[in-house]
Amino acid sequence: MLEIETNLQSIWLRMAQACEAAGRDPASVRLLAVSKTFAAQGVAQAHAAGQCDFGENYIQEGVEKIQALTHLPLVWHCIGPIQSNKTRLVAEHFDWVHSVDRLKIAQRLSEQRPAARGPLQVCMQVNVDGGPTKAGVPPEQAAALASQIASLPRLRLRGIMSIPEPAPDFASALAVHQRSLAVYEALQAEGFGLDTLSLGMSADLEAAIQAGSNLVRVGSAIFGARTPQA
Ligand SMILES: *Cc1c(COP(=O)(O)O)cnc(C)c1O
Repeated sequence: MLEIETNLQSIWLRMAQACEAAGRDPASVRLLAVSKTFAAQGVAQAHAAGQCDFGENYIQEGVEKIQALTHLPLVWHCIGPIQSNKTRLVAEHFDWVHSVDRLKIAQRLSEQRPAARGPLQVCMQVNVDGGPTKAGVPPEQAAALASQIASLPRLRLRGIMSIPEPAPDFASALAVHQRSLAVYEALQAEGFGLDTLSLGMSADLEAAIQAGSNLVRVGSAIFGARTPQA
């Protein structure tokens, strides 16, 4: 069996066990395979093993893979930082974007989304652990930005995403993910009708699932260690 397939099976097992520990339905959590820095061939192998959703951080690299794999029915998620001059590529090529944290970027994505494609599916990135240089809207501004995104015609607000600092243990990972859950539930209480809580990576997917994540983003545990990018 190919290594990617074996790795995917281990992740599906970890997800199922985490759901069981949390008393959740295993069908309620989806896997986003983060293929950044890995070749299109690895994506094709993961798809052959049953994986459909893929995440990319670097927009140009992601677009190249999307274009190389148009023969496969894949769903592509942009999960990396977006500069204004890259919004058109995201709007034209991706199905989802998880990293919207400013109105200006949201407006450009909506304006540039081609009419021939359905709305771009959006998660708002929320910064739940404070660091001033970190991306993401502060939790206290999440509702205001959510209203603005929800009013844009070519975007569909689906949920929130966060990337907390790596946590030293399960309890601290759980505590920080629960802050994202609180933001998500506050938005739900305001009637935004969200269905996506994008939390958890290779190292902390169990804590994220315990906190209520329904989309875990896993890269290295599927594709292997990444060579750091310059
Ligand atoms: C790279 C990345 C991941 C996957 O991280 P791993 O630790 O390799 O699982 C998930 N989410 C985002 C936003 C990332 O940039």
